[in-house]
Amino acid sequence: MSKIYDVIVLGAGPAGLAAGLYAGRSRLSTLIIEKGQDGGQIAITNEIENYPGQVEGDSGPSLIARMTEQAKHFGAERVSDTIKSVELEGEVKTLHGVKGDYQAKAVIVATGAFPKPIGCKNEGEFVGHGISFCATCDASFFEDFEVYVVGGGDSAVEEAMYLTKFARKVTIIHRRNELRAAKSIQEKAFKNPKLFFMWDTVVDSVEGDGMLQAMTVKNTKTGELTRIEADPDDGMFGLFGFIGYNPNSALFEGILDLENGYIKTDENMHTNIEGVYAAGDIRVKSLRQVVTAAADGAIAAMQAEHFLSHK
Ligand code: NAP
Repeated sequence: MSKIYDVIVLGAGPAGLAAGLYAGRSRLSTLIIEKGQDGGQIAITNEIENYPGQVEGDSGPSLIARMTEQAKHFGAERVSDTIKSVELEGEVKTLHGVKGDYQAKAVIVATGAFPKPIGCKNEGEFVGHGISFCATCDASFFEDFEVYVVGGGDSAVEEAMYLTKFARKVTIIHRRNELRAAKSIQEKAFKNPKLFFMWDTVVDSVEGDGMLQAMTVKNTKTGELTRIEADPDDGMFGLFGFIGYNPNSALFEGILDLENGYIKTDENMHTNIEGVYAAGDIRVKSLRQVVTAAADGAIAAMQAEHFLSHK
């Protein structure tokens, strides 16, 4: 451990890479630490239609590759390591990784949040090939197809209603016989003529030849298994999972203020510790998208620059 960076950015998804770009461009010595592959959830998104200026048909990984290159171009250094613990109080913050320790005067946490998997057999094979966790991102790919939504909370019901604008028919698969969603949301859902419900049911397994074409669902009360096949004219259907998110915030428990596992910030991305910012899906916010993550990253980096220049 020799260098004390101006800024360490933890996580190389859109928020972290935007933070790295803005910090580097502000001539702050910047280190981006990522434990896996760049991009977070975007790395598994085939096509992104709703990032402003995105080239039609361009993939998530290709957008991320350009963001990575841009951050590098402005001087952000990179290291691949898993951070195991953090010391964030005081003027110099220390991040303890598996490969080494890293220090900086400001830290931007951009560790993201990941949708909980549906939990059925073969799920991994069909993520991005019929299975999705983001209606805003993928609804338009299912224009006039049949779509199934797993979950019974506010997200599942609201996203299912959004999906009815695109899909021919949307069926909510819920493990109980009543929704968890707010009553006001339920009332709207029950009036929606394109929305159907499959109660006391979970998805057991999914199958298909490249694209999702069939699934087996299980009745949670009787254990009965039922096979559902795509309409032969469609050849495929969509399956969206909205059963909650897992924020990557375990490192910060008892250190940063959290709400349901998400880091609380003000509108300028400040956490409860001076010089520590949070950006992107890891923070408490209403819309988790690439465009909002990138914006958070930019704001956090500029706030760090302001903080360091006024010290
Ligand atoms: P949530 O409220 O935790 O609901 C998760 C749903 O998924 C529940 O219905 C749950 O079933 C089901 N579920 C959980 N694990 C499952 C599993 N392994 N298999 C099958 N089903 C499973 O999550 P959320 O809907 O994402 O909402 C998260 C928070 O954001 C909530 O506080 C919500 O109020 C808020 N939110 C608010 C709005 C809004 O106000 N417009 C919109 C979206 C989200 P059970 O019901 O049986 O537990």
